[in-house]
Amino acid sequence: DTIGDNLDRTIASHGDRDALIDRVTGARWTYRELGEQVDAVAAGLLATGIRKGDRVGIWAPNRAEWTLVQYATAKMGAILVNINPAYRMHELRFVLQQAGIRLLIAATEFKGSDYAAMIAQARPECTELEQVILLESAEWSALLAAGATADPAELAAAQRELSADDPINIQYTSGTTGFPKGATLSHHNILNNGYFVGELCGYTEQDRICIPVPFYHCFGMVMGNLAATTHGAAMVIPAAAFDPAATLETVAAERCTSLYGVPTMFIAELADPNFDSYDLSSLRTGIMAGSPCPMEVMKQVIDRMGMNEVSICYGMTETSPVSTQTRRDDSLTQRTATVGRVGPHLEVKIIDPATGLTVPRGEQGEFCTRGYSVMLGYWNDPGRTSDAIDAGRWMHTGDLAVMDEDGYVAITGRIKDMVIRGGENIYPREIEEFLYSHPDILDAQVVGIPDPKYGEELVAWIRMRSGTTALDATTLREFCTGKLAHFKIPRYVHLVDEFPMTVTGKIRKVEMREISATLFP
Ligand code: ATP
Ligand code: MG
Repeated sequence: DTIGDNLDRTIASHGDRDALIDRVTGARWTYRELGEQVDAVAAGLLATGIRKGDRVGIWAPNRAEWTLVQYATAKMGAILVNINPAYRMHELRFVLQQAGIRLLIAATEFKGSDYAAMIAQARPECTELEQVILLESAEWSALLAAGATADPAELAAAQRELSADDPINIQYTSGTTGFPKGATLSHHNILNNGYFVGELCGYTEQDRICIPVPFYHCFGMVMGNLAATTHGAAMVIPAAAFDPAATLETVAAERCTSLYGVPTMFIAELADPNFDSYDLSSLRTGIMAGSPCPMEVMKQVIDRMGMNEVSICYGMTETSPVSTQTRRDDSLTQRTATVGRVGPHLEVKIIDPATGLTVPRGEQGEFCTRGYSVMLGYWNDPGRTSDAIDAGRWMHTGDLAVMDEDGYVAITGRIKDMVIRGGENIYPREIEEFLYSHPDILDAQVVGIPDPKYGEELVAWIRMRSGTTALDATTLREFCTGKLAHFKIPRYVHLVDEFPMTVTGKIRKVEMREISATLFP
């Protein structure tokens, strides 16, 4: 199946169910209405001369039109290029050029930054960019109008020409460890991944999924949108992104059964001063992914938000994204200490990065995966592609993991984040978990910085809970003494209100390392 064929099937069986509720624009569509709009946009794209394989960029925060463009391009065969809403002019220009975007569909502004002005600045150097359509503009209305009056046979013919292995989407990685890379994905890659994520969450047409995570990222558009449309469930977009109060408000008002977020989003929701005033009783499940989930946060998500079946997923943009997921009947320990077991129809091996040999169960190594989910490659970048995907089609993730006897996987860090202090390999994750046990610490992150004596030294970045007294390095070290091995005790402490983050809510340790090195030279 292609994504378009799959959507048509859902419309045929669940046409009258809610498909999309967008609290930004106020759009509320059933599957039948969504299908009509998608077809209008798809036919409109064909009418403006866009063809199979052409790149169409979408640069907008979550809103109904994002989803329309997602399914419209999939239906007529253009390759959708997701552009990070937080990008600035030079990053936009990079993506426009790197992906060779022919048509850019964009919001006019986002969080006060003027998209139209940035596009105008970038445009002269983007030779392949032929057309820009701003949402809410006359051009957008014209596209819809052209689609509505087009001969439906043309779209049907375009759709028949597609194959499930065609590239359909270029998604840039979060840029946590460096410059974002454009993962090229097929219908087969992401449609299957969305479907299996939805299966493991137990979705049916009764479910209503609140998606505050960005559509531009696989978390929103695959684990959110595609998991929903493959099951006839509803996609619900909060009025503001990311805003803890708007998200809680949405769950309560729309009776959502599922809520998504990276751990930092759940931390913010749980800390909302009005948390207890929202009726969250409709919540049954949800997904936490993207970075490690502290035990305490997981407990509260279950106990205070009622997300008893909440699932932890692990994966990366390059693998569509999900590789492992916890199951509904997994124990609390399995849902906190691990990222679950490998997903259906996927292979996993944990290897010693130095030798490439599989390590015994229980030992740490690099997580590698193979199967339907592995991307076609990085767009226009055969060098990086062959660094990541070996001749046997195994994707080397750069993540460190341990698999136990029962197949549960624990992510223990990133190869790039590992700190080597005095010859000891240190995984910051372990220290962070320990620091969370301090009652006054809201959130903690640990990085290494160069040190003349030990090679590297540890810096703890700490966010204190409000109303507590600030910790200094001495008191923190006292707290750790006797509980952490001496070489794992951070030497420096840096108190902050926020960590440097990517738009996907990931902590940018690269930036933290750079700042730390200047703070503690
Ligand atoms: P870049 O590749 O550009 O540096 P990135 O790897 O953060 O950025 P993504 O593809 O969005 O970009 O994120 C995938 C990574 O997120 C994984 O490789 C892993 O390191 C981390 N990750 C994802 N899920 C989890 C999880 N449940 N627990 C721990 N880490 C996770
Ligand atoms: Mg990555």
